[in-house]
Amino acid sequence: MDKNYNPHEEIIKIIDRAAALLGLEEKDYIQLKYPERELKVSVPVRMDDGSIQVFEGYRVQHSGIRGPYKGGIRYHQKVDMDEVKALAAAMTFKCAVVDIPYGGGKGGVTVDATKLSKGELERLTRKYTALLYPIVGPHVDIPAPDVNTNEEVMAWFMDTYSLVNGQLTLGVVTGKPVPLGGSLGRREATGRGILLVAREIAKKMGLSLQGATVAVQGAGSVGGTAALLLHREGCKVVAISDVSGAIYSEKGLDMEAIITFLRAERGRLLKDYTAPDVARISNEQLLQLEVDILIPAALENAIHERNAPHVQAKIILEGANGPTTSAADAVLEEKGVTVVPDILTNAGGVVVSYFEWLQNLQAEKWDEDEINRKLEHIMVRSFHDVWNMAEKAETSLRMGAYMLALDRLVTASKLRGITF
Ligand code: NAD
Repeated sequence: MDKNYNPHEEIIKIIDRAAALLGLEEKDYIQLKYPERELKVSVPVRMDDGSIQVFEGYRVQHSGIRGPYKGGIRYHQKVDMDEVKALAAAMTFKCAVVDIPYGGGKGGVTVDATKLSKGELERLTRKYTALLYPIVGPHVDIPAPDVNTNEEVMAWFMDTYSLVNGQLTLGVVTGKPVPLGGSLGRREATGRGILLVAREIAKKMGLSLQGATVAVQGAGSVGGTAALLLHREGCKVVAISDVSGAIYSEKGLDMEAIITFLRAERGRLLKDYTAPDVARISNEQLLQLEVDILIPAALENAIHERNAPHVQAKIILEGANGPTTSAADAVLEEKGVTVVPDILTNAGGVVVSYFEWLQNLQAEKWDEDEINRKLEHIMVRSFHDVWNMAEKAETSLRMGAYMLALDRLVTASKLRGITF
């Protein structure tokens, strides 16, 4: 981890560069360099041993220009205000890239969720929800899962909000369990979006996905699903990692067996997975493998100035938010590595969250084929919008994505008349 790395400053640099490429003046977009609202809460939790611990929690509402704030809730020991601010801003741009009517927000609690019992996790979630109650709601701010939060956590969030609100309010949060207002296809949506983007970029670069080699950092909701779907597509997933380290097989890993193993119970890690011909490597080695496609799908700042020169992948699909620092981006561009940015690559999750919300508001239930078809339509269209913008401006796909989003945001802002 770079000592001086500040995720919020990173994203502001990107916004400034995109604005310069669009020929915007700072007054046109300066409001997007600041979150509209930041809330910090103290979350007291009764622990199983009877003690009380107080955790710090956050919710940042970055921009509501194009719709209600939307973005996940992260439970992680490294969560702080700068990280949440950066992630909230990225959500504003992500929703604009895929052109869904949302703004951007993000939340988090500074906690090592892996050390909490299920009861502690539930009490933490319910208290955090109650503290956020005044600023969230189905037409105001709609959270979703992120690192270390899942369908169960979303169910507790929805239930607590509904109890305080005095009525069942399914649309306050997305990523819920399917029997409780969740959407079919939501669990796989971010991974499926990565698969769709992989297909499009492969076509553009004349790469066949059949037998293409893939390495994935992170085996959670995003990385695990992306690896499994790419494996089913015919790719050779040679390496995957989690917080406990990485596994590697030159012949290709059996992703069906690995995902079945990991999902069998809470807390399972790759260090305990064994199979013939599987070697153990470090997370750093995984990032430096000679593969066609590298998918960082864990946390931000995975590819930085120091390891970027050693990256040997042809294509990087950013499954995580902010996995590549701007210094690393420059190195990768120089090396000719094609980076498909997070705000496009991992947008499948928020797109199907949008479908879940629409189903909740209209009391409907869509079938999975319909959801996947609609997701494909949006992801493919957005990929080509970004590609064309980057080509026209002779810039990277990241800049193309930010230019597309910034243009939509500035247009909406001018129409609303909130810049004066
Ligand atoms: P998750 O908690 O389900 O999984 C995270 C994975 O990363 C786990 O396997 C964990 O062990 C691993 N990990 C953590 N630190 C690591 C490290 N230092 N090295 C290697 N692996 C490490 O979280 P997720 O929902 O899959 O989110 C992953 C990333 O994708 C985050 O950046 C998140 O913001 C982003 N994202 C998530 C969604 C979503 O729908 N869940 C949507 C878009 C983007």
